[in-house]
Amino acid sequence: MAKIKKIAVLTSGGDAPGMNAAVRAVVRAAQYHKIKVVGIEHGYEGMINGEFVDLTSIDVRNIIQRGGTFLRSARSMEFKTKEGRATAHQNLVEKKIDALIVIGGDGTFTGAGLFSQEYDIPCIGIPGTIDNDIFGTDFTIGFDTALNTVVEAIDKIKDTANSHDRMFFIEVMGRDAGFIALQAGIATGAEAILIPEVEGQEDKLKEFILTESHNKKSSHIILVAEGNKLGGAHEVAKKVAEDFPDLNVRVSVLGHIQRGGAPTAFDRFLASRLGVAAVDALLDNQRSIMVGYTNHEVVHVPFNKTIKGHRNVSKELLEVADILSI
Ligand code: ATP
Repeated sequence: MAKIKKIAVLTSGGDAPGMNAAVRAVVRAAQYHKIKVVGIEHGYEGMINGEFVDLTSIDVRNIIQRGGTFLRSARSMEFKTKEGRATAHQNLVEKKIDALIVIGGDGTFTGAGLFSQEYDIPCIGIPGTIDNDIFGTDFTIGFDTALNTVVEAIDKIKDTANSHDRMFFIEVMGRDAGFIALQAGIATGAEAILIPEVEGQEDKLKEFILTESHNKKSSHIILVAEGNKLGGAHEVAKKVAEDFPDLNVRVSVLGHIQRGGAPTAFDRFLASRLGVAAVDALLDNQRSIMVGYTNHEVVHVPFNKTIKGHRNVSKELLEVADILSI
């Protein structure tokens, strides 16, 4: 294979704290190996529109601690079409780009996998999403920061819940996955956790409230992942208030604060390792793989495996949450 002289890097899908640290690591690792780097703004949309910026070590100074993504992110419908990908490829050819590193979730990897097949261009993925729902890696960049943000917010809500004997329904992000809700629930001592992966939550919740009305707790925290089967926190709280009119029910939707903020030390560390690993993978002639982090080691997972695989919630964690909520 021809030597790689110039690579491009982009962030795509939902933004996640630590994406900047990952871009920084890619740029510096590439420069270390005398490879030039081009940043693509607005993900695949920018690849189609030619939003390219040359990046050197100096350009990525002072961003390791910043949330969001300075390259910005986008969701691109056009990249899902053959024509869109053809335009994107033409732009890479004109810029003499030999390989691509994409930072995002499984949608981003699906796009990169297709693109790599169609145009024989090496693509490496770095998992960046707050949801931690990517198969083949124990952690995704941004999850730890989002988790800590949620825990801090719930601690504050607990203070007011306790003062007024209230039952709070707190909605956290997770359309398809309940990893944030489950781990934040355990870390904050929530009384119940509703997540998309678990069936039969309505009966369990009713049973729990009936039991709780007999015990001595004065306030309750019910964590609701936004994609849970009974609906969001507002829907669940409404149902409960109808069935148990004596309860003092309140709702709090944490929303986009979960995406922002300075990345935690863990996310900076993970992003730095995976950024270097992505450049190493290209030098090692890898293509169409994600660099992940499993059992404290960097691993390579083919795109088709990580896209098709489903990351299950741990039964042990569900049990821990159940045991500790009494
Ligand atoms: P998050 O988990 O944060 O939502 P994601 O990477 O899964 O991140 P998506 O919006 O699903 O976010 O995907 C990001 C982009 O990847 C899409 O906007 C689209 O441009 C591209 N993409 C997704 N699916 C495909 C596909 N089937 N074919 C081509 N491109 C795709």
